[in-house]
Amino acid sequence: MTVHIPFDNSYARLPEGFFALQKPTPVAQPQLVVLNEVLARELGLDPEELRSRDGVDVLAGNLVPDGAEPLAQAYAGHQFAGWVPRLGDGRAVLLGEVIDATGQRRDIQLKGAGRTAFSRGGDGRAWLGPVLREFIVSEAMQALGIPTTRALAAVTTGQEILRETVRPGAVLTRVAASHIRVGTFQYFAARQDIGALQALTQHVIARHYPDARSPLDLLNAVIARQARLIAKWMGVGFIHGVMNTDNMAISGETIDYGPCAFMDGYDPGTVYSSIDRFGRYAYDQQPRIAVWNLAQFATCLIPLMGEKDAAIAAATEAVHGFPDVYAKEWQDVFGKKLGFARAMNGDKELIQEFLDEMARSGADFTITFRNLSNDVTPDGMEDWAARWRRRRDEERSCGATDISAANPAFIPRNHLIEQAIAAATAGDFAPFHRLNSVLARPFEEQSEFSDLQSPPQPHEVVERTFCGT
Ligand code: AMP
Ligand code: MG
Repeated sequence: MTVHIPFDNSYARLPEGFFALQKPTPVAQPQLVVLNEVLARELGLDPEELRSRDGVDVLAGNLVPDGAEPLAQAYAGHQFAGWVPRLGDGRAVLLGEVIDATGQRRDIQLKGAGRTAFSRGGDGRAWLGPVLREFIVSEAMQALGIPTTRALAAVTTGQEILRETVRPGAVLTRVAASHIRVGTFQYFAARQDIGALQALTQHVIARHYPDARSPLDLLNAVIARQARLIAKWMGVGFIHGVMNTDNMAISGETIDYGPCAFMDGYDPGTVYSSIDRFGRYAYDQQPRIAVWNLAQFATCLIPLMGEKDAAIAAATEAVHGFPDVYAKEWQDVFGKKLGFARAMNGDKELIQEFLDEMARSGADFTITFRNLSNDVTPDGMEDWAARWRRRRDEERSCGATDISAANPAFIPRNHLIEQAIAAATAGDFAPFHRLNSVLARPFEEQSEFSDLQSPPQPHEVVERTFCGT
């Protein structure tokens, strides 16, 4: 069955040097693990076609559909603050772009599609574990209302790949507003390629920030979206784990799910990533790291902002504005979690006291907030609870908010992801599908799935998560 994808590629029109043309490398025996039919339709694709032999070949990289212009994107980045002038898509190939049902341009990319000009020593492949992890977590983020890249499909390749042991290979089809990163700007800025920076800036403004009239407008808009994004991460206890500048999308979507994790017991200093030995990307460091990354982005734009001293001053002021923007977003997100429709004096303190008590007791972040919708407050917080109820009563006079709509019952807990991956690696995909179906409605009580709501038993606790490589 022929697969029709209505490609409308714009990145491939950018100047030479933005990418390396690269077809995906075929695999031995593609098999479909999961297809996101809702997303397929949103993109104007036919799920039946994608499920057909040809469709699965497309999703595995064995067949390049008409209109695709496969390429690997160039980018640089700071990894754990260390500068790397050339990273790029080492294991991902952009097939092209489509315009979705709402008129938005979306990238369709195969992750794990084989070696590219940017692979360095890597094999260009992904194993099933990180592919399923990204599928579960990115789709859960979407259901939680958090901007994110999406997962259209996962296929196994029928090939083994070598990691710390032999693993089954897989390919993820990732969909994104774009895959342009802070590191994409850094790549050209470091080369002092002003023409390329201008072309990239125009492309990004047209694609993501059509109201921006200048590079400074763009900077401010990116700062605002990142502030909103990070506040939303904090609100669900999400830890990205590798906030390198090449893993921060200019669109404001969460991108590159590697050793990411959701916190169980609340501890602001939580780190899961095995490679984050100094806690640079700990839960509570994320807003500060966002500023660090945005300062790198701002630096890239300075050559486009006119007279140098004035440009530096304006860019610095914009980046220094992040904490205020973030503080408002944080108060909005956490205020809603406490059932406040609008911000009032004293809310910040009320939120912070609640978090401080949770930190002292190490109570489960998700469940403690969720219990508030049943009016259950933690033991020893009677005084706080009395003030909270009074604050809620003030609010009710001007329309109550639904607390359960701001506090999920279900999150993709680490131990559940690990269990789903272990079962899938042994050939049983049922736990993976079960988890996805529950996480599609994270704010609803689903009593038949209470086992997916509870924190891990002591023997189930996952202490460390690993990169997707
Ligand atoms: P990440 O840690 O996933 O953000 O990746 C960092 C860099 O390493 C990017 O340039 C990736 O393309 C590259 N990379 C990661 N895994 C592989 C792999 N298996 N083969 C080739 N390049 C890879
Ligand atoms: Mg990356």
